[in-house]
Amino acid sequence: MRHLSLLATACLACLASPLAAQNAPDAAQVHAGILTLDTHLDSPANLDQPGWKITDRHDVLHDTTQVDLPRMIEGGLDGGFWVIYTDQGPNDARGYAAALAHALKRLHQIHDFVAANPQSFALATKASDAAKIAAAGQRIVYVSMENSYPLGTDITNLEAFYQLGLRMAGPVHNGTNQLADSTNGEAVHGGLSDLGRAWVQEANRLGIIIDASHAADSSFDQMLALSAAPIILSHSGPKALHDHPRNLDDARLKALAARGGVIQVNSLFLSPDRPRPTVDALREQMETAASLPPSERAALMKQWAEANAAEPRSGTDFDRYMQAVFYCIDLLGVDHVGIGADWDGGGGVIGLNQISQIPRITQALLARGLSPADVEKIWSGNVLRVMAEVERVAALR
Ligand SMILES: [Zn+2]
Repeated sequence: MRHLSLLATACLACLASPLAAQNAPDAAQVHAGILTLDTHLDSPANLDQPGWKITDRHDVLHDTTQVDLPRMIEGGLDGGFWVIYTDQGPNDARGYAAALAHALKRLHQIHDFVAANPQSFALATKASDAAKIAAAGQRIVYVSMENSYPLGTDITNLEAFYQLGLRMAGPVHNGTNQLADSTNGEAVHGGLSDLGRAWVQEANRLGIIIDASHAADSSFDQMLALSAAPIILSHSGPKALHDHPRNLDDARLKALAARGGVIQVNSLFLSPDRPRPTVDALREQMETAASLPPSERAALMKQWAEANAAEPRSGTDFDRYMQAVFYCIDLLGVDHVGIGADWDGGGGVIGLNQISQIPRITQALLARGLSPADVEKIWSGNVLRVMAEVERVAALR
């Protein structure tokens, strides 16, 4: 039996790879011709670094950052969802006030880099904006919120953020909050709180895509059941590949797809974490990096980047990442899978570690036999379909 199954695997491989590769369209041409969006760009956090500009070219090996305008151009990334990320703090009035101030600062930083570079970036608020912005030669900036903790207990704050451009939001990050239980937090509400349920309805009413990445399975189930519009996982993975709380089991992924949703495949949590003694030893110093004189700071950043390169978080490489993407495609079909690699939020794998390298993804999808039209669904069509449906549902409310 063992020999037979090996033989079967080998035959499938000879059928799939060489023939598909021979007939595959030119990957560079396809990549340049399609609309590409990543649904979880944590890059706005880099705007806190003194002197760091989105329009300058950086290198992951020098400062660990993964996305900027020159590397987006080189990698052919048209844009994505730029994240207002807020650390989870205490669930009390002071915590909410501090989180709100932080989130507003980050939102303004996003608006500021768009306003300062109108030839290069444009704020997008509708599904139909993306193609127009790309056609004008600009990069697409949708705004999303990772952790809705900053909204506090006043759900009308969501509308204030919507008015300022917010179009995707997740209730939680690593820690249960006033809205929902997190994958990495205590089970306090058994899923969504009453406020969390009101948050789902308000997101539906306004036309904000609900992002269930980081939400506990119970919260995911309840958001999926309650939401009148499809929901998304902006950066999550399949549990079948690696049993990690941040990944979802097949039944949940199928339920997501059945409701029209999409999983944007994360590059994190696809294999076990490895020890990182040098990286861990530098963490405390990194906390104070922003206050160091420029030359000391640059030296520390370089040391940090070298340690990160020498000690990757896990053994996940490009092939493993694509294995996760293909797994989701095989399970759900091409209409329910996309790309959300968690750039500048801990993502990146061996062989795919900054945004300039993403043409490799298109190349691998084409080599697997996907048509250019299906590749474009994965890169942008699916998330934009969800967004258009969210808009349609909101218009009825
Ligand atoms: Zn995240």
